[in-house]
Amino acid sequence: MIRILDVYANYTEPGGKIVPALSGISLDINKADYVAVVGPSGSGKSTLVAAIAGLLPIAQGEIYVDKYRIRRTRRARRAKIRGSYFGIIFQSSEMLARFTVEENLRFAYVAANGSVDARYQRKLEYLCQKLGLTEFLRSTPTKLSGGQLRKAAIARALIKDPPFILADEPSGDLDPAAVVQVKKLLREENAQGKGILLVTHDNKLASDAKSVFELRQGKISAYLK
Ligand code: ADP
Repeated sequence: MIRILDVYANYTEPGGKIVPALSGISLDINKADYVAVVGPSGSGKSTLVAAIAGLLPIAQGEIYVDKYRIRRTRRARRAKIRGSYFGIIFQSSEMLARFTVEENLRFAYVAANGSVDARYQRKLEYLCQKLGLTEFLRSTPTKLSGGQLRKAAIARALIKDPPFILADEPSGDLDPAAVVQVKKLLREENAQGKGILLVTHDNKLASDAKSVFELRQGKISAYLK
């Protein structure tokens, strides 16, 4: 499980000014939970995802991923934890530009599982069917539209069947039909036992979550569900 205990996180601007981004967040995400955090731009959603993923140091509080206390964990170990616990859908695409979408998916799977196998093929076919990836599977990321790139990034996060999915605005760049596809896919992944943290400004996208929190200025301002 993921346990977030009274977490504070700040950014320091080049001039030295400290910008608070998270101000005392506490949240538990258990296996098979579906938690959404909604809030306007600048409320701290991406920071929360980065902190859980161990990509951003926190100023105060603790984040536990199972028994691991992230703040006390060395960088290499944090990367390992990130790789084995999380599939992360980032706002910016993390795809390798010189490789095709299929190669990018394969690398993500191999990094987690050592080699491709029948399970990889099954998951690839499943994701192709759910997201309509087939037509651009052999293209490199630079050839893709924003929506295609988003779908590819979602597939890359999910291909390795991670225990938890951290999704940061996964519907960005998508047309309404694709948003429906992604929403359904997340619901199915959750039904298969994956824990999901979805952060979004889109309350409609968050409506499938079992619990919904509202974030404002780095604080949980309401429990919407
Ligand atoms: P959201 O994802 O909800 O849009 P963020 O987590 O990106 O919010 O941002 C939270 C706060 O931190 C905002 O005030 C934002 O301006 C600030 N912030 C985010 N990234 C940086 C950065 N790299 N440097 C300085 N301030 C930042």
